[in-house]
This record gives sequence, C-alpha cells and structure tokens, in this order.
Amino acid sequence: MYFPAPCPTCHWENRAEFADSSIHDLTCSRCGARYCVLLRKHKFEVLFDLGTRALMDGYAREAVASFAASLERFLEFYVRAFVLERSAGSGREFGEVAQTFEATWKHVVSQSERQIGMFALAYLLREGQEPEFLSARALGSDFRNRVIHRGYLPTREEVEGYAAQVFELIDRLLTRLGGAASQPEVLQEREFQRHLAALPDTVIAVFEEHPGMFRARRFGGPSPASAEFPKSQLKGAASKPAKALNDARNYQQALFRQALEERGEGLKRFKGK
Ligand SMILES: [Zn+2]
Repeated sequence: MYFPAPCPTCHWENRAEFADSSIHDLTCSRCGARYCVLLRKHKFEVLFDLGTRALMDGYAREAVASFAASLERFLEFYVRAFVLERSAGSGREFGEVAQTFEATWKHVVSQSERQIGMFALAYLLREGQEPEFLSARALGSDFRNRVIHRGYLPTREEVEGYAAQVFELIDRLLTRLGGAASQPEVLQEREFQRHLAALPDTVIAVFEEHPGMFRARRFGGPSPASAEFPKSQLKGAASKPAKALNDARNYQQALFRQALEERGEGLKRFKGK
C-alpha cells in the first residue's frame, strides 16, 4: 500500500510504501534529494485506514484482514500504554520500562490468544472491571475466522458491520485511555529522533500527521454523540437480541459512517496539499 510523499525540495509527488516502522527513507525520483518521511501514526491506525481504503475500493475480504489486524494491534497498544502510564512517576527510566515491556511482549507476540490474556489483565487492573467486550461475539471473531480461515466471501454490508464493531470498540477504549494513549507516542518520537540522528545533515525530515480516523478525532475532530446513546444498551446488546442489539448495531454503524465521512474529507484535504 502506497501513500503520496511529496518531495520537500522540488515538491514532486513521489509515492512511498507504508513501512512497518513508520519511517520512510526516500530519494526523490525527479531531483534526487534525500528525505525521510516519519508517519506520526500507530500500527492499529495504519491498519484500520488500510481496511477502510480496501473497503472503499471494493475489496471486502481484504478489508476484514486489515480490520482484524487493527484490533489485535490496538490491544497491544492498550497494554503498552497501560504499562508506560503505570511506571510514570515510579522513578524508573522511561526507555528502560519500554524495553522491559518489549522483551515481555516477545513471549506473547506469536499467539493472539496470549495477547488477549495480557490485555484482559491490563484492563482489569486499570479499570477494575471485567472486559465484557472480549467475548467472541462482541469481537466478531466468528465472522473474522469464517472470512480469513474458511474463505467465506463477505458482502460489503457485512464488512461494514464488522468494521463498525471494531471501530466502536477501539474508539471507546481509546477514550477510556485518555492521556495514557500519548505514552506510546513518546516512544515513537524517540525512535524517530534516534533514526534522524543517524542520518546525514543533508537529509530533510518530514513529519506527517496523516488524517487517520482515530487521531483525527482525538485532535479536535468532531466527536460522535456518544453521550446521547446509553452505554448500557451497548453492553447488554449480546444478551437482548431484539431491539437493543439492533440499536447497538445502528449506533456502531452510524459512528463508523460518520468517521468514514470525516476520513473521506481528511483524505481529500491530504491529497489537495
Ligand atoms: Zn525532488
């Protein structure tokens, strides 16, 4: 997947492929200038955007894989944010805590079930509550498995429903995280600085705040009218099949559609730059 990365010297619009590290060392194909594009965005945001793009382009099946991966990476993000938040003010050095976390995460990195276990404990410790949304039904796991492992071809509507579910969950947990969500951002900035320090002075650094769905909303984008919708209805949705479930689904879809529209606007702005 590519994104436009205009050259800071001659403004030629080069294209860059999303890198896992969010760091893109580029050479302009027109003037030959070297520059480095740093995406201020987390993995779960990139993956959710890729899913949205795939969905908009008509690749429903591919979109499911991206949305599912986005959710998994968000759970990791949550645990990381929790650990960093917890250690703040403990006297331990930020980088050391981060390193210990990364080393610990290696033990669970290849199995998503283990990661859900880590998340469940982090949520319990932080919120003092059961993560009731971790049921297979609430996570949409059956749908996801049917598509990814059994080759089911979903309709666009089904994928939108799934995306809305994932979106609502991430959005809700991000809101709960509040300021703690900025902890992993500090980490990312440090990695950016380390990378930049190793580059020759002639390389121009370009920081990109992409109009991701979540970040756009956190930084002053219009927030959905979540307060108008009683959370209890969302919570109880799984056990009350009839109206509550429909209401919850409609609410999720409305949230996602609104974000999708904002995203469309954001993309237009970004392309128009
Ligand atoms: Zn150039």
